[in-house]
Amino acid sequence: MSSTLARGSAAEVSRREITTPDELPEEGPVELSLRPQRLAEFIGQPKVKETLRIYIDAALARREPLDHVLFFGPPGLGKTTLAELIAREVGANIHTKSGPSLEKPGDLVGTLTNLRQGDVLFIDEIHRLRPVIEEFLYPAMEDFKIEIRLSDGPKAQTITMPVERFTLVGATTRLGMLTAPLRARFGIEQRLNYYPAEDLETIVRRTADVLKVGIDPGGTSEIARRSRGTPRVANRLLRRVRDFAQVRADGAITEAVAQQALQMLDVDQLGLDDMDARILRTIIEKFEGGPVGIGTIATAVAEDPGTIEEVYEPFLVQNGFLHRTPRGRVATLTAYRHFGFEPPAGGGGSHGLQPGLFPDA
Ligand code: ADP
Repeated sequence: MSSTLARGSAAEVSRREITTPDELPEEGPVELSLRPQRLAEFIGQPKVKETLRIYIDAALARREPLDHVLFFGPPGLGKTTLAELIAREVGANIHTKSGPSLEKPGDLVGTLTNLRQGDVLFIDEIHRLRPVIEEFLYPAMEDFKIEIRLSDGPKAQTITMPVERFTLVGATTRLGMLTAPLRARFGIEQRLNYYPAEDLETIVRRTADVLKVGIDPGGTSEIARRSRGTPRVANRLLRRVRDFAQVRADGAITEAVAQQALQMLDVDQLGLDDMDARILRTIIEKFEGGPVGIGTIATAVAEDPGTIEEVYEPFLVQNGFLHRTPRGRVATLTAYRHFGFEPPAGGGGSHGLQPGLFPDA
């Protein structure tokens, strides 16, 4: 990794923040206010919505709790929102925990024993559960009972306590890091994908409505296009553009206002975030466009290979910046052009960058 990229200029840092799919510390309350209140209001992901609707209706008809649900996919695509919608649709309470914050079974005993029938226990970042917590959860998920050790050591006594029949909803950005026994205990598994531009436009229009800000179709599509397929980023860009429109224009967001604001904020035209850019630039600058293995890329950009594979790569492949080949990852012509690099001579050579082979989009 080059030292400029490692340190990052002030502009790079702010750009990383504005397009990061992760929730920023100050965003909690505003995200809460923007969450859809009913499953029908949840925009996009038609397959996920339809599947959940069927399972929820069936569970309600049988008067049984919904089976345990596992959501996986990159950050900011609506996993937490869906967990909350499930609880609302089945008329139950939701209790939220984060995988890494659970240190010992005792951290869950209170929550589990207080659950009422049908309640949702939502565990975010479930791939980061400690093994001891996972094992504690197995009988709770399967037989609705927990085993509490009364003391330490091999001869420790345990007591078994029943818990109400609840629904565990797990969310993970890293399906590959879940252990097989834990994964097997989820009856419903749903993948969330990056959103197409039309859905992001609908999300931007809805958020603008909630925030009571005027926006025209040009402004809407400009924000949607730069949102990295991610509702969280779309909502964040809309809020920042709204500030700009208030101060520099008459408050309404037009295409021109959106363009000026996003340019000032240094948001990439196609929504690439800092890590996307580092991955592509590294392949082009250091590995002559590829093919290069994921492990090598990961070392060069100082990121975990699994995260690159599960979080960044799908977006880059889907948008025609990166190609997966049996010999490794290859930067496409689109990637070369986007960063202002001259594509390799003849568009071919060792890169296999023939336009026909690796189309632009
Ligand atoms: P995740 O848990 O996958 O990181 P969240 O559920 O926290 O994502 O969603 C991030 C933000 O994006 C929330 O404010 C949420 O309201 C909004 N959002 C996500 N998906 C949708 C959607 N399909 N329709 C409307 N808003 C959405």
